[in-house]
Amino acid sequence: MNIIDGKQLAANLRAEIAAGVKALKEEKGITPGLAVILVGNNPASVSYVTAKEKACTEAGMYSREIRLPETTTEEELVKLVKDLNVDPAIHGILVQLPVPKHIRDKAVIDAIAPEKDVDGFTPINVGKMLIGEKCFLPCTPHGIIKLIEFSGMDIKGKHAVVVGRSNIVGKPVAVLLARKETNATVTLCHTGTPDIARFTKEADIVVVAAGRPNTVTGDMLKPGAVVIDVGVNRIPDDTKPKGFRLVGDADFDSCAKVAGAITPVPGGVGPMTITMLLWNTLKSANG
Ligand code: NAP
Repeated sequence: MNIIDGKQLAANLRAEIAAGVKALKEEKGITPGLAVILVGNNPASVSYVTAKEKACTEAGMYSREIRLPETTTEEELVKLVKDLNVDPAIHGILVQLPVPKHIRDKAVIDAIAPEKDVDGFTPINVGKMLIGEKCFLPCTPHGIIKLIEFSGMDIKGKHAVVVGRSNIVGKPVAVLLARKETNATVTLCHTGTPDIARFTKEADIVVVAAGRPNTVTGDMLKPGAVVIDVGVNRIPDDTKPKGFRLVGDADFDSCAKVAGAITPVPGGVGPMTITMLLWNTLKSANG
């Protein structure tokens, strides 16, 4: 059984991205710029945003950190996004979700210019991905495809089961796996699926993005399957300095006994999500 080392793959790709950033600066005098907006101080969001800003700077990019109070209005946030849309120093705009309840996600995402939508969340980019046009691919799903390839699995002709149908992970990863260049046969499971194990037991690839620990256990897998665990769940744990530990949506110990390869949590999908964000920002700056 192989552990799919997301940190290693991310490091490989980040070195390529850093080289691309350097070349762009030298050849065209352009420094890729990413604006990261955080509204409020949700602890998980603060740590995601800090990691994104650090990765951006390490790749040689310009990172503009914009931290706004919880009381920011939808109008103020939309105005800020629109200003960034026309700011030549900024090639990518990221609004960390979730935003406070009084702000509609949709209003904010719709305000982002598709050509700076490095998260790949705007309807224009989602639609282009669906019909196979050039676009910014959403970061987590794109990173998942890279991880499956990195595991050594040839995706073509394989049966992939995706558990979860969110707009940011499950649905787009199902679309990417089914594209002609990837060519998997895809089954998409969700809470309306009566018996998920019936499908996962036949899968060569299982992607779990349910937001619930132990959604997939070893007895639900076909021997040798590649398991990509997207979940990030905080479990209270007094033995840890922060008072919690992170677990995925798959039960790692039982899955590792049956799977051919599996991503750990942390250290699997997470580092790849940030890496694909840098990838998109460089792509945007390259024009
Ligand atoms: P989400 O919006 O809560 O969606 C979860 C999906 O899983 C829903 O479609 C839900 O079905 C389905 N589901 C929930 N319980 C299920 C069960 N028991 N059986 C089958 N389907 C089930 O979550 P998300 O945004 O996709 O995120 C999923 C997980 O990935 C979370 O833990 C999140 O923190 C993590 N995540 C990690 C990264 C990363 O970079 N590492 C990025 C994004 C998300 P219904 O549609 O029927 O409700």
